[in-house]
Amino acid sequence: MAKKKKRQGHYCRICGEYKANERFSGKGHAKHICKECAALPQERKNELQYISQIDRIAGEYPRSRQDWEFLEKMSKNKKYPEAMDFAQMVLNMSRSQSDPEENDDNDFEDWQEKLSFSEFDEFAKGDIESAIEEDIRDFIFSVNELPTEKDKDEILKYICKNMAFGEGDILVLNKELSVLFDSILKEVVLDLEKDDDEDL
Ligand SMILES: [Zn+2]
Repeated sequence: MAKKKKRQGHYCRICGEYKANERFSGKGHAKHICKECAALPQERKNELQYISQIDRIAGEYPRSRQDWEFLEKMSKNKKYPEAMDFAQMVLNMSRSQSDPEENDDNDFEDWQEKLSFSEFDEFAKGDIESAIEEDIRDFIFSVNELPTEKDKDEILKYICKNMAFGEGDILVLNKELSVLFDSILKEVVLDLEKDDDEDL
């Protein structure tokens, strides 16, 4: 956004634009929301805010773990389709920029061992299980649906790529991990149903 160059007036955290003082109401000033944005429905406000957050992250390298997680989360959040498309685009761009052929990290990966879930020690197994459970819960919570096979694949890929183990080992995405995912998903679903029953 070229407009950011001119830092006059006030920043609106919803549309991400700098606008003159008079474009903010008294209350809007404190909240950093311009008059136009203040008049929007809450859903739209949320979405615009997510979009300007993604826009900020898009221009940032290297990105923090939170930023990556935010992008991953938004890319699956069907509640905000525009933000979802944008997050997917930013993620795809980031992926194509780090093609395996020209990846400088290749040397680094050579000494890392690729292990199946069962080859890790008890502590690492616990970490992996809770990462999967957490991601399943996040997914169900944000999308309000159970993960499809494709979602499952993405969640597991993400975990394999981002989980760091003491010795620099890498978790391999294989049948074993996929079966583990299914059993954790089953537990989470049972757990959620139990919660629902208790709420009644
Ligand atoms: Zn605004």
